Amino acid sequence: MAYIEVRNEFKTYQMGETEIVANRDVSFDIEAGSLTVILGPSGAGKSTILNILGGMDSPTSGQIVIDGTDIATFNARQLTRFRRDDIGFVFQFYNLIPNLSTRENVELATSIVKDGLDPVKVLDEVGLSERLDNFPSQLSGGEQQRVAIARALAKNPKLLLCDEPTGALDYETGKQVLQLLSDASRTFHKTVVIITHNSEIAKMADRVIHINDAKVRDVENHSNPTPVS
Ligand code: ADP
Ligand code: ADP
Repeated sequence: MAYIEVRNEFKTYQMGETEIVANRDVSFDIEAGSLTVILGPSGAGKSTILNILGGMDSPTSGQIVIDGTDIATFNARQLTRFRRDDIGFVFQFYNLIPNLSTRENVELATSIVKDGLDPVKVLDEVGLSERLDNFPSQLSGGEQQRVAIARALAKNPKLLLCDEPTGALDYETGKQVLQLLSDASRTFHKTVVIITHNSEIAKMADRVIHINDAKVRDVENHSNPTPVS
């Protein structure tokens, strides 16, 4: 059994009279400890999939089996616990808390989970030991994203969900961030899912799920993914 098994997932939004189908009969598998890219143009339905995988939204129908449990059947309390304990989120614009330092941003995340890691140790691993007392506004974009990744990893989740994590970064800085996410999967055996419209990023993935116009169009497996370089 794969770590994630999405089966026949549909998501529709009602906009007045109009029904918008964001995901139509989406099915795919993701293996534990792998790096998966969900690739497709704007409006394809990628964020909808990521939000559903992260328990931030519920599918209209279908199964979302993660680690043997169908999260589509969860009630609000179970979803809250799942989001808090089992998922690390990384966003395009970092979503750091501006009036907390680097260290405090990560401590806030670990303070609400049972099995969190030592914030200072994780920040050291992402190369930010010199930045512990800086506020987000004092950090470069790449550094802010590394704080966000440290925050996600410090909760010690099995699954890291990343929404256009390099979308606001220049090319070189983006590469460092991708290297960190790659390390998270290859060295620390996290299951990493990245949504992006950038086909360059897809080259580093073990599996690329191509989404277009609400549907899975192709699933590509890389036995030798291209390392970040
Ligand atoms: P992507 O992430 O690939 O850009 P999305 O999953 O955000 O695509 O959106 C897929 C489709 O669903 C788009 O047509 C979008 O406008 C629509 N959509 C997404 N969220 C909502 C919402 N909350 N209400 C109505 N329509 C939505
Ligand atoms: P990037 O190449 O990622 O855009 P920047 O040019 O923004 O990086 O920043 C380069 C270095 O200067 C980074 O190490 C950053 O932390 C530091 N820096 C930028 N702005 C400030 C600030 N307001 N206070 C302290 N350090 C800063």
